[in-house]
Amino acid sequence: MAKTIIVQKYGGTSVADVDRIRNAAKKVVKTKKDGYNVVVVVSALGDSTDELIRLAHKITEHPNERELDMLISTGEQVSCALLTMAIHKFGEDAISFTGAQVGIITDNAFTKARIIDINAKRIVEELNSDKIVIVAGFQGVNLNQDITTLGRGGSNLTAVALAKVLDAGSCEMYTDVEGVFTADPRIVKDARKLDRISYEEMFELASLGAQVLQPRSIEFAMKFGVPIHVRSSFSNKVGTIISKEVKAMEDTVVSGVALNKDEAKVTICDVPDKPGIAAKIFKEIAKEDINVDMIVQNVSRTGATDVSFTVPGVDLNKTIRVAKEISNKIAAGAVAFDKDIAKVSVVGIGMKSHSGVAASMFEALAEENINIEMISTSEIKISCVVRKIHAEKAVRAIHEKFGLSKK
Ligand code: ADP
Ligand code: ASP
Ligand code: MG
Repeated sequence: MAKTIIVQKYGGTSVADVDRIRNAAKKVVKTKKDGYNVVVVVSALGDSTDELIRLAHKITEHPNERELDMLISTGEQVSCALLTMAIHKFGEDAISFTGAQVGIITDNAFTKARIIDINAKRIVEELNSDKIVIVAGFQGVNLNQDITTLGRGGSNLTAVALAKVLDAGSCEMYTDVEGVFTADPRIVKDARKLDRISYEEMFELASLGAQVLQPRSIEFAMKFGVPIHVRSSFSNKVGTIISKEVKAMEDTVVSGVALNKDEAKVTICDVPDKPGIAAKIFKEIAKEDINVDMIVQNVSRTGATDVSFTVPGVDLNKTIRVAKEISNKIAAGAVAFDKDIAKVSVVGIGMKSHSGVAASMFEALAEENINIEMISTSEIKISCVVRKIHAEKAVRAIHEKFGLSKK
């Protein structure tokens, strides 16, 4: 009988230096010795991807995206070769590959490419000859043979996609925390590790700022039913299983609190209050590929109103430019912006059937004298925009309010 395949992904923090690379290699070798076929996906060392991006921006304000992918994909090539050497040193046979070499084919959307096909033939061949296969995460190749990347945190997506095509027995994400917690353990010291969480909730938490997994990888895992095990590369403890919703999960009203400090607020003042104006504004913004998150429009008493919305911080300059153009076209007023905001969110599947969550969240903020500037809700989440200086205090207050700490 063929051996079960295990896909393991080691994040940047788990391969940040030589000792950690050795530590990861040891774990890989142990899994192989336990009788599994092992496919490993690695991220770039530590924050070397950030370094490469910084370097590009020293050369030019707007790096060409094809060239940016050419540059930032190199980080993973470094780590996969080094990890392979470390495995050799432990006496096991291993071989490293780039995304292109293992047939990860993507579309042409540089810096956020989508996987369209994976021809894992080479991986299977190497596994059959008893090797451990190490794949550079985060990257693929388009049909023109140009290197592409899969969006920040994209090694998670590489791992989930390989687990799917290889029909792996498990997909383990090794990181620097013991699993998914009720809040970022760096902010809430007594945050609790979750044993299980549903794809839906994990997707929301990740999209709302919990950095531990890339949202797109969870979307992919949900679509194809790939269970994910998030765990620590520094211990052997069982981590968090992300899977489809099971009955018991519904009893938990709130599963976690997330924080995003990377958004900015833009306000177009004195917008004429008549039909069609909002459509015009947001159509122009969408044309520029800017993802608008929250929108607030006040009731007008004078025939004109202010429209505020939030966008990713990286898109702020572009947004201000477009907003000024629109404001001229529709005869609105000044354009203001605010970078000192943060978005705190609570997520929980139980919200579908429990009321009062929003009220409790607002109460937690009120008790700390934190003003709420914007609110948005959906079936399983509530988000509030607050001042950035109050962000961490807000997270801790909400976490406490919902009794999420260790029992
Ligand atoms: P990796 O290098 O393994 O990809 P990241 O640094 O990208 O790791 O993600 C792990 C970090 O995510 C943790 O160190 C933790 O501070 C942060 N984090 C944010 N929210 C959460 C959460 N709810 N649960 C666990 N970790 C979280
Ligand atoms: N190195 C890439 C990043 O920093 C991909 C990853 O770590 O998953 O975004
Ligand atoms: Mg990461």
